[in-house]
Amino acid sequence: MKLTIHRGANEIGGNCIELKDDCSRIVFDVGLPLNAIDENLDIRCYKPDISGLFADETGVAAVFISHAHPDHYGLLSLINKNIPIFMSKASAIILKKIVPLLGEENYADLNIIELSNGEEIKIGNFLIKAYEVDHSATAAMAFEISAENKKILYSGDIRFHGRRAWHSKIFADNITPPDYLLLEGSTLGRENQEQLTEYDIEKRLTVLFAEKKLSLIVFSTQNIDRLVSVYKACVRKNKILVLDPYSCAILENLQEISSHLPQFNWNNIRVYFACNSITRKLAESGDLYHYKTSKITFDEIAANPEKYVVKANFAITEKLFERLDVDNMQFIFSLWSGYLDKPGFWHDLKDKLVCVHTSGHACVKDLQDFVKAVKPKHIIPIHTTCKDKYADLFAADVIVLDDNIETEL
Ligand SMILES: [Zn+2]
Repeated sequence: MKLTIHRGANEIGGNCIELKDDCSRIVFDVGLPLNAIDENLDIRCYKPDISGLFADETGVAAVFISHAHPDHYGLLSLINKNIPIFMSKASAIILKKIVPLLGEENYADLNIIELSNGEEIKIGNFLIKAYEVDHSATAAMAFEISAENKKILYSGDIRFHGRRAWHSKIFADNITPPDYLLLEGSTLGRENQEQLTEYDIEKRLTVLFAEKKLSLIVFSTQNIDRLVSVYKACVRKNKILVLDPYSCAILENLQEISSHLPQFNWNNIRVYFACNSITRKLAESGDLYHYKTSKITFDEIAANPEKYVVKANFAITEKLFERLDVDNMQFIFSLWSGYLDKPGFWHDLKDKLVCVHTSGHACVKDLQDFVKAVKPKHIIPIHTTCKDKYADLFAADVIVLDDNIETEL
């Protein structure tokens, strides 16, 4: 069996891994590099050199997507529409229903097949088993691949401190020790960062929301754990969470996965119809109409600002700065702080921000505990800028690979 890391051996993001034997070839993740995502570059420039995957070419038997972050799925729209693409139901919902709201990408005509936790798929001589793990994307998956009497484990993106950390723990404690573990290492090199759990985030937000002022909070609603933390902190302090229609659409579509997710018509949630392209798309499809019963106007917010926690989007942020006293607001940044290094609106406001965030990726200590539990014979670094640190950190033989080098396993 041969392994090629097409991208991800030397960087965080852009994961693309190929496994092949004499009969078939399968691909795990078809991600875009982070800079291509941030700068909105032409995705066609980032196609890895895999024959039989893109356009009308044939030859790749299946693609497996670990989770719905573009550094893992961003090239999907370019691949042959007949190739089966396996992913969790939550990932499929995000790709089919939510991502099209953000731009031109349309995944409706792809051959997406939903996988459940623990499900096994046979592709040629490969047996692939999917395991749900904790990550900032909903229902992220790790994959165990068995072939030629060998086992390979691909961690995808994984952590042990979110609301679904138990998924990662059950996975770690029950997996058969693999011959090879392809292990993400996003946090290597960031060892000094404080490791909070998602429950710590909820507590910190609860303290902040006790302030008698409007809170404007920047976070990603695709990070469902964070949305739940914000919502629960609002409930504890009897604040109203003001969402945009985009956030409501995510929650409404993911209701299929969990009936416990907060929805637009729950107590403590109102919807501000932010004037932007996403709201317009939802209006055209008729979906915006659902949220009418929970609609709130800007004047209602301005009349009692201290009652509200507002999820930031450009439209409402601009109005808040124009119409309300900035000194009577607090600004909470609940994303990776590295985004603040780039020029932009929040960068300029850096001194006024309270940062409350935890990573979507396991800290080094949790990765070490994971390796102790899983007991791989070999570790292959991926999704990291620090592959040379693995040998010192983990109790297993480390095989350091480069992009685009085929390796016999
Ligand atoms: Zn991710």
